[in-house]
Amino acid sequence: MTDKNVLGELVALLGSDIVKGPDATLLEKHTHDYCVHGRTDVGVQALVFPRSTEQVSKTLRYCNERGIAVQPQGGLTGLAGGAVPIGPCVVLSMERMRAIKEIDTAAGTITVEAGVAMEAVQKAADAADLFFPLDLGGRGSCQIGGNVSTNAGGNRVLRYGMARDLVLGVEAVLADGTVIDALRKVIKNNSGYDLRQLFIGAEGTLGIITAVVLRLFPKPRSTCIGICAVNDYPGVLDLLRRARSGFGAQLSAFEVMWPDFYQLGTVALGRKPPLEIGHGVYVLIETLGTDPDGDQARYETVISEAIEAGVVIDATIAQSQREATELWAVRDSPGEWSKGVHWPQLGFDVSVPTGEIGPLADEIGVALKKRWPQLQSVFFGHVADGNLHVSVRMSGHSIPELDIENEVYGIVSQRRGSISAEHGIGSLKIPFLHFSRSEAEIELMRAIKRAMDPKGILNPGKVLPAPGSAGH
Ligand code: ZN
Repeated sequence: MTDKNVLGELVALLGSDIVKGPDATLLEKHTHDYCVHGRTDVGVQALVFPRSTEQVSKTLRYCNERGIAVQPQGGLTGLAGGAVPIGPCVVLSMERMRAIKEIDTAAGTITVEAGVAMEAVQKAADAADLFFPLDLGGRGSCQIGGNVSTNAGGNRVLRYGMARDLVLGVEAVLADGTVIDALRKVIKNNSGYDLRQLFIGAEGTLGIITAVVLRLFPKPRSTCIGICAVNDYPGVLDLLRRARSGFGAQLSAFEVMWPDFYQLGTVALGRKPPLEIGHGVYVLIETLGTDPDGDQARYETVISEAIEAGVVIDATIAQSQREATELWAVRDSPGEWSKGVHWPQLGFDVSVPTGEIGPLADEIGVALKKRWPQLQSVFFGHVADGNLHVSVRMSGHSIPELDIENEVYGIVSQRRGSISAEHGIGSLKIPFLHFSRSEAEIELMRAIKRAMDPKGILNPGKVLPAPGSAGH
């Protein structure tokens, strides 16, 4: 079948406003995500920009009947290559499905189409005096359908959960074009299998999410934030216990930065460090509460008690929104590394139980240094979620990525952790899936894939390893 047939037939089906040919500008934009630069010559046959669920359904029915691969795309901000075409396909971009359909203040829900930017959901909730807590660096350009399809995490998982925990209802289109309308606004629904979860975190391999019902929360009236220095990882755990019992449900972020990361996020970028360099570990603690005066006083009390107990060595607490922003900027500095200090060459997003994060960081650091003495690594993470990020680089060398990945994932595997805590599998991490999923688990995933997408047209080559390949 030639490109022209597919393009022509899709144009006849949906119109030239919806279906575009693979011109150079469109190919350049639609063949990469934040981390993976794909090739523009893989054989994209057409790009479809539907405005309705019905048009998504028609596109899938057409492609399924002809066995044409479909590459779903959201805001192209993913970190694992999940939206990057790797072979002949039709690109299905959700960017025009941007309707905010309803906010239900009694139910505490917002119903939106998949192409709505995360930030637009946050703003719509805010305008209704409510709060949508999912948040990450790409908020302005990432799309909610992509956030849900990849089960995005971020900095407030500790309190509000991952994307999965914020989704009450889903509308999705199956490979054959069948529309599954499960846009329900109820928290309790024990009527059989939880079908929405099949689509969440599946990276578009089981169906295309076209709309979602998301949970909203009361808008916080106060934000308290500070950075504490502690001596070591046992001190971090002690501080976490104190923060949990002192702040209760108001604790919204507990972000740990090891010294090399802290140095990189401050002085290396020309930023004055909020606390001096040289401490064992740094922890950013944020609370979101309902009583501006009382919450700040309580925050200061909990931190003072930790100082008196000798757990916290030094601390700084933001007294203004500007200071709060400055403290978050240190934790969010990875977004600036590519400009200022040329990090990272290789990043990791792994998880183990919270108590093991410190030992895991030590073990990875020692193992990498032993095999590659010239390698530099920095560690940081959402420790309360058991989530560690590691970034490594080797100056002046091309980095032996595969060897380093096998080393790190081998260590994570021994602790029964996950090789992808919040970034997904996409194409990048398929070779390592077996480190955190058993053969039986992978076979069950394959069985679900076969049942829902028997021709394998949905985002082929993503999430699951080909049978018999290195990933099992
Ligand atoms: Zn993260």
